[in-house]
Amino acid sequence: QPQHYDVVVVGSGGAGLAAAIQACDEGARVLIVEKMSSIGGNTIKASVGMNAAETRYQKLKGIEDSKELFYQETLKGGHFKNNPVLLREFVEQAPQAIEWLAEHGIELSDITITGGMSIDRTHRPADASAVGGFLISGLVKNVNKRNIDVMLDTSVTQIRYENGAVAGVELLNDENESLVINAKSVVVATGGFSANRDMVVKYRPELDGFVTTNHKGATGSGIAILEAIGAATVDMGEIQIHPTVEQTTSYLISESIRGGGAILVSQAGNRFFNEMETRDKVSAQIIALPEKYAYVVFDEQVRLKNKAADEYIARGFVESAESPRKLADKLGMDYHAFLATLERYNVFVDKQYDEDFGRKTAMRHPLNQGPFYAIRIAPGVHHTMGGVTIDTDTQVLDASKAVLKGAFAAGEVVGGIHGGNRIGGNAVADIIIFGILAGRNAAHNALR
Ligand code: ADP
Repeated sequence: QPQHYDVVVVGSGGAGLAAAIQACDEGARVLIVEKMSSIGGNTIKASVGMNAAETRYQKLKGIEDSKELFYQETLKGGHFKNNPVLLREFVEQAPQAIEWLAEHGIELSDITITGGMSIDRTHRPADASAVGGFLISGLVKNVNKRNIDVMLDTSVTQIRYENGAVAGVELLNDENESLVINAKSVVVATGGFSANRDMVVKYRPELDGFVTTNHKGATGSGIAILEAIGAATVDMGEIQIHPTVEQTTSYLISESIRGGGAILVSQAGNRFFNEMETRDKVSAQIIALPEKYAYVVFDEQVRLKNKAADEYIARGFVESAESPRKLADKLGMDYHAFLATLERYNVFVDKQYDEDFGRKTAMRHPLNQGPFYAIRIAPGVHHTMGGVTIDTDTQVLDASKAVLKGAFAAGEVVGGIHGGNRIGGNAVADIIIFGILAGRNAAHNALR
């Protein structure tokens, strides 16, 4: 006897949890299915924050911003390949999504900046080093409060699509038992495929051998499940490598460190690029260095304002020394070159004008207060911009842009919003904005 729910949510990352909470609040009976043994997906690893323009928190800090500017900068960062209709929806809904989180006890009241943006619009928790764990624990509290059913260690293997509409899903648990759930709506929120090496290399052969920042569950199964019922995909070859990844652990070094004033230095002791450029461009410059790695360098003032820096120190990623000379010695770097680099950069900070690489943002302090710190980094596979096609109601579309009734998708499994390069802080915005919409629309479809 199959069980019945109104909405089955596939995946327990940020998109899935937001969808489940919203669907429940619309009156639907909701089941969350997660193939891993814990909740949180790749979202739990998100570091920098959530972008939004024209928010209450920006106003409190006197930051002037506009949705239009946010739209234009995201479009430019995405090489003008972004789906303009989805991007417009994204930008419009972002401040409401920040408020939705606040109403659910998840306040992102601190603000920083990421590469490719000209304004501080990346919202972060005030008292946590990273946004991901903070977000997931807040969302889980809301799931628990509502008694929403969660099945862990269970994969959705297939969507039942009968007579032109979703009828349910087929599940497989870790004891290899299969199970059928009847439901009129399914929200596929299974994330991206950065951890599926075969799939990454199929679309981008040159990425063979790169580490990935993603959790093991980022295998792209949701794309295959939706393709099996006729979904179309877009931008599958658009795969982002993140410039600053600690290579022995594949741990992401957050853009918030550069956003807080850090610079990038080569093994020769030189800056080599505008650190606040978009991820694709910064990554390309690191790969072009003879040694193919670089250092994130900062001083005590930057550390004091960045909780993430202390986390990296605790994890053993950071070399430190009282003086630049001693730090250079530890890194096997030419001391004269390194000191000249810092002195020159500090002059640019004073003038707020970077003569060498045109950095315009986050030149927050001169780097002149010991101790000095360095983290060795190189790029890693980080985000898959491609995925299934949806409309602005998060309904999954087939190749002729017809709606697959009852099938909704949100988060990294969806393609098109970020175009050819995702801006830091736009993934968390994506999963929350479209997760809420998917939950609402899936509930309405099931209860109609
Ligand atoms: P997003 O950021 O888009 O919310 P995440 O990567 O954070 O995506 O979360 C996606 C979740 O979906 C992960 O926890 C992953 O393990 C889970 N998942 C992926 N494929 C399946 C599947 N077929 N069945 C159940 N859960 C899945």
